Amino acid sequence: MKKAIITGVTGQDGAYLSKVLLNKGYKVYGAFKRNSTFDMTRFRELKIENKVELIPFDLLEFTNIYRTIKDIEPDELYNLAAQSFVGVSFEQPLLTNDINGMGTLRVLEALRTVSPKTRFYQASTSEMFGKVRETPQKEDTPFYPRSPYACSKLLSHWATINYRESYNMFACSGILFNHESPLRGMEFVTRKISYAVAGIKKGLQDKLILGNLDSKRDWGYAAEFVEAIWLMLQQPEPDDFVIATGEAHSVREFIEHAFNYVDIEIEWTGKGIEEKGIDKKTGKVYVELSPDFFRPAEVDILIGDYSKAKRILGWSPKTKFKELVGLMVDADMRRTE
Ligand code: NAP
Ligand code: GDP
Repeated sequence: MKKAIITGVTGQDGAYLSKVLLNKGYKVYGAFKRNSTFDMTRFRELKIENKVELIPFDLLEFTNIYRTIKDIEPDELYNLAAQSFVGVSFEQPLLTNDINGMGTLRVLEALRTVSPKTRFYQASTSEMFGKVRETPQKEDTPFYPRSPYACSKLLSHWATINYRESYNMFACSGILFNHESPLRGMEFVTRKISYAVAGIKKGLQDKLILGNLDSKRDWGYAAEFVEAIWLMLQQPEPDDFVIATGEAHSVREFIEHAFNYVDIEIEWTGKGIEEKGIDKKTGKVYVELSPDFFRPAEVDILIGDYSKAKRILGWSPKTKFKELVGLMVDADMRRTE
């Protein structure tokens, strides 16, 4: 039985990846950050509660990381833990870099010292491309980070490559473009929209307040993206891969499709910060903007080229954008019943 540690196991990807590994017969050690509330909602939704062995773990605490790795000596370690929200990284840049950047170095150092044969996966991100230097972005596209989050992920990305090259470790970095699901954190724009649309449709919420509607993302489905993560660690040689859908859509399009899913047609009026999304039938204002949700530096558009993953891993995305929007709104509609 293969042993895997997943850090950030209580997050969106941690839950989906746990399910994938359990189905493949792994013994899964779920490394989780202790909080005052013990929230296993995602595990419950995927029906994997009590199937993962949970270990208290924090990327800020080297001795904890060291002991965990020394005791388990896993075949594979998936480092998914992070302060993963770009918006908050502008408010907490030092903490974000300590967790995401230095935290990954702590894991790599512990692995090198006590379990160098462990195969290591690092959760890198399309945010590293930031102010994009070419379109679509692929593995060798130059980086141009636009947030403390993206800077922190550049450190962990290059550290992963550096440990592979310096110490011959099996260390891979997955440059994943945005991936969403009904288990996505509430503060990310897709889930904020799907949850609000369900609330508005049911009369539980009045409106949705957002920031930049024109930024575009290459949004894929998290349940499919974690399959690619696993595939990376099963290859004969360690390498880095872009995982994406190859299509970009705007926040505005996401909103339109989400409302359409519940039979509301949104029409846009006004300009700049005064722009509003109204119900075409009733004239009711459902979407407004607030400066609070704009970022000091924005990533305007990301589109990934996943051809290397297709060629080497045999991986391709299946769920299309509109379908993804539908499955998120549908899940939130059912949850608010
Ligand atoms: P997520 O839902 O925010 O999960 C992050 C996990 O990290 C949570 O379990 C969180 O625990 C944990 N964590 C936070 N601080 C920690 C610390 N100091 N020590 C240990 N654990 C800590 O993120 P996700 O969407 O699953 O993403 C997984 C990884 O992929 C992240 O590294 C993210 O940056 C990266 N990524 C995500 C996307 C995407 O679109 N989803 C795209 C590219 C890369 P609590 O919930 O208890 O705080
Ligand atoms: P990111 O790509 O990791 O930053 O994922 P997010 O889901 O947080 O943001 C995606 C895009 O939506 C970014 O360009 C944000 O500026 C934009 N956006 C517009 N309004 C909002 C909002 O209210 N919340 C969030 N999270 N993003 C918003």
